[in-house]
Amino acid sequence: MIHVTKTFLPPQEIYQSILKRAWDNNWITNRGELVLELEDKLKTYLKVPNMIAATNGTLPLQIAIKALNLTGEIITTSFSYVATTSSIVWEGCKPIFVDIHPEYLTIDETKIEAAITPKTSAILATHVFGNPCHVEAIEAIARKHNLKVIYDAAHCFGVNYKGESIFNYGDISSCSFHATKIFHTGEGGALFCKQQDLYNTLFYHHNFGHKGHEDFQGLGINAKMSELQAAMGLAVFPFMPQIMEWRRRVVQVYENELNFTKLTFLKIREHTVWNYSYYPIVFESEHTLKKAMKRLQENDIYPRRYFYPALHNLPYLNTPEMPISELVARRILCLPLSHDLSDKDTKKICKLVNAVL
Ligand SMILES: *Cc1c(COP(=O)(O)O)cnc(C)c1O
Repeated sequence: MIHVTKTFLPPQEIYQSILKRAWDNNWITNRGELVLELEDKLKTYLKVPNMIAATNGTLPLQIAIKALNLTGEIITTSFSYVATTSSIVWEGCKPIFVDIHPEYLTIDETKIEAAITPKTSAILATHVFGNPCHVEAIEAIARKHNLKVIYDAAHCFGVNYKGESIFNYGDISSCSFHATKIFHTGEGGALFCKQQDLYNTLFYHHNFGHKGHEDFQGLGINAKMSELQAAMGLAVFPFMPQIMEWRRRVVQVYENELNFTKLTFLKIREHTVWNYSYYPIVFESEHTLKKAMKRLQENDIYPRRYFYPALHNLPYLNTPEMPISELVARRILCLPLSHDLSDKDTKKICKLVNAVL
């Protein structure tokens, strides 16, 4: 059976040896030495000035909205995972969708200004599949209209744009370390923020507002990563260069074998070092996509329709049509991509897909 992704599990002895430190310390949460070590290692690896390890990749989005005191309307993309939109609604704000660019699949920056109203407080965009948004244009719009910028960078572990981590863009970025993501801690995530004051606010927010045992600095929630999660992260971390290389090889086979006269692949933005996080292909029609899915499933291969349905269709929203998101969401399929997908299986997937085109 081949799934859209496969969680990389480190050798159990390595995981156990790191867990042993938690046992020896008798300390399994509340920012113990494993969380601190993971944060240090990731900060160095990603070249980011600071980072807060979190228990998942969704609470960081909610905390970001809270920390920036956002109210009213937040401009966002209609093509992402549901957490991007649900976080906005959960925090009592109204998502205002802007359609996506048909090739980059990120929010169409040329359509953002038309969506701004006196109630707009921020832009929350997704670097979907690890492909950066047009961050310069978004920053210019935000400056001009005095808006905050949050990036849902859940897919972006290891992505660099113009020579630096994509996490360094915007006021705040989040990442997810869920088991289906390229770097994982089982469940987990992170917050990134270059501005020191804002970083402090995020930090207090993620730990109940605690400033020491008895003082509180504002409102907070519990989004702490545990030592057990950090142990998984520390066990996976040393394998990241290898994991990227394994995935690059799978992508290369797809690039060589798929029939791109009838399919398109996501267009990666110029000046990006991409992370091979997903392999989304867009079919000419939804009908062909369904044929391909069926053919693959008959062969015990399970791709996923990331992301379908497009978010403006969510049942708790009432929003205008987003034609490009709709068109893309109906025709996009993420093919299996993992560290241990063999050349043989990848070629088989290509053959099965090409056969229905
Ligand atoms: C995975 C994902 C999230 C949520 O991350 P969790 O760690 O599962 O909470 C948010 N946004 C996007 C785009 C995602 O793919």
